[in-house]
Amino acid sequence: MPSPCTLATRRLRQDSVVTAGTARFGGGGFTLVAGPCSIEDEVQMETIATAVSAAGGAMVRGGAYKPRTSPYDFQGMGDAALPLIAAAARRHALPAVVEAMSEAQVEIVADHVEMIQIGARNMQNVALLRAAARTGRPILLKRGPAATLEELIGAAEYILLEGNDDVVLCERGIRGFDTQTRNVCDIAGALRLKELTHLPVILDPSHATGRRSLIEPLVLAAAAAGLDGAIVEVHPDPDRSKSDAAQAIDIPTFARIAARVRVLRAALEEDDVYAAAG
Ligand code: PEP
Ligand code: MN
Repeated sequence: MPSPCTLATRRLRQDSVVTAGTARFGGGGFTLVAGPCSIEDEVQMETIATAVSAAGGAMVRGGAYKPRTSPYDFQGMGDAALPLIAAAARRHALPAVVEAMSEAQVEIVADHVEMIQIGARNMQNVALLRAAARTGRPILLKRGPAATLEELIGAAEYILLEGNDDVVLCERGIRGFDTQTRNVCDIAGALRLKELTHLPVILDPSHATGRRSLIEPLVLAAAAAGLDGAIVEVHPDPDRSKSDAAQAIDIPTFARIAARVRVLRAALEEDDVYAAAG
């Protein structure tokens, strides 16, 4: 643990609950955030927000500025994407989260959506962490692909030190040697984070695996393991996604995941009641 990191660790607090609009992270629930990798057009965002709302998802996601590996790939719609996600989310009474890639983007993102995402590549961009924190918006902080848990906690501490208590941590896969999955989905690391900090921790199985076939089982694994939620990439026509098509799931799959998470949680809660009754 980077010493002292007193704000992020469990020394001072137990199990924080972070709210972003009507979405609640922590406190025993399992919060589902869903939407496309990239915001592409109005119809796409309306279709997704309708589906997230119908399935019982808590929040809509979408990328406006995309940190693509290649500069020749689609870089996102930019500022023009923000009104599209904001309007679609508002029509369905859902909050939304969008990544800010630079300090210059922080204000405009904060003006349009309830939560700011700091992407994996920017986890230790201290100036960006501070600027995002100062907006007062809740922050979704993704773990860098080669960051230790200590480094992630240190990054969260920068946000907390600005007086912004609303940080949700996200495990999104770390760099491994095998090419069969995009990254290594470190569920054990995510669980260890919950032992080390009081902050809610969610899983992003989309970027962790890069494969749509693995999204449903990993969301169920996260829910069974006691993580606080999941963020998944969903597209009305996954193969036509302008970015990350291979990991995008379709709307019926998302609806089934949300329904199965409810079944799983109900079963676990029933078991808790049974155990408590002795
Ligand atoms: C994303 O969520 O759109 C994204 C780019 O994720 P990450 O920063 O985890 O790669
Ligand atoms: Mn993506």
